[in-house]
Amino acid sequence: MKLILLGAPGAGKGTQAEKICEKLSIPTISTGNIIREAMKTGTEMGKKAKEYVEAGKLVPDEVVIGIIKERLAENDCANGFILDGFPRTIPQAEALDAMNFGIDCVLSIEVPDEKIVTRMSGRRVCITCGASYHTEYKKPTKEGVCDQCGAELVLRKDDAPETVLERLNIYHDQTEPLKGYYEKSGKLKTVEGQEEVADTTALVFAALGI
Ligand code: ADP
Ligand code: ZN
Repeated sequence: MKLILLGAPGAGKGTQAEKICEKLSIPTISTGNIIREAMKTGTEMGKKAKEYVEAGKLVPDEVVIGIIKERLAENDCANGFILDGFPRTIPQAEALDAMNFGIDCVLSIEVPDEKIVTRMSGRRVCITCGASYHTEYKKPTKEGVCDQCGAELVLRKDDAPETVLERLNIYHDQTEPLKGYYEKSGKLKTVEGQEEVADTTALVFAALGI
């Protein structure tokens, strides 16, 4: 299955991507994770992206389109993939169409704005492997420590409340129109994000018929 996950920052795309990935054994491609990794290792792309990410702005289309093109050409994507965080603008969606991978489904996880800011304040990420947790909804086994690699969990700089509001504005302005874009091609499905991760996963699996 070639799947796109849409949704506001903090809607739980990454968490649901993990569940789908486990079930279908297809890789998740998260542009956010790829960019953060590049920022950490200090590549040219990472240096360019840093100011945008930290201000809560979108990284320029040509940069993320380049990242996706390279990543989707790798062998592990041949049997399908989950795109988490791409596309985020209409030009990105058009560029993806032009790559002719043939997207099967676009799933939008809907969470009202009021809930996003509180959700984001509880989000924690691993400084080493990038795994994502939540102080209430997705606790690690040991507080402040990554289950996967044992490194420290921190609050992402761009998850600060002011930056979250900026990211939400950008989401409504630039990313939400993608719902109309994919609705036209009959690929859009929507699911309401629930309090409990498992409840959302049940709706996601049902919507995907998996
Ligand atoms: P979230 O899941 O909270 O929405 P991500 O981890 O997906 O956040 O993305 C973090 C940041 O990385 C974004 O705010 C943006 O600066 C940058 N980014 C990620 N994906 C894209 C994209 N497709 N286009 C532009 N910028 C992106
Ligand atoms: Zn880790």
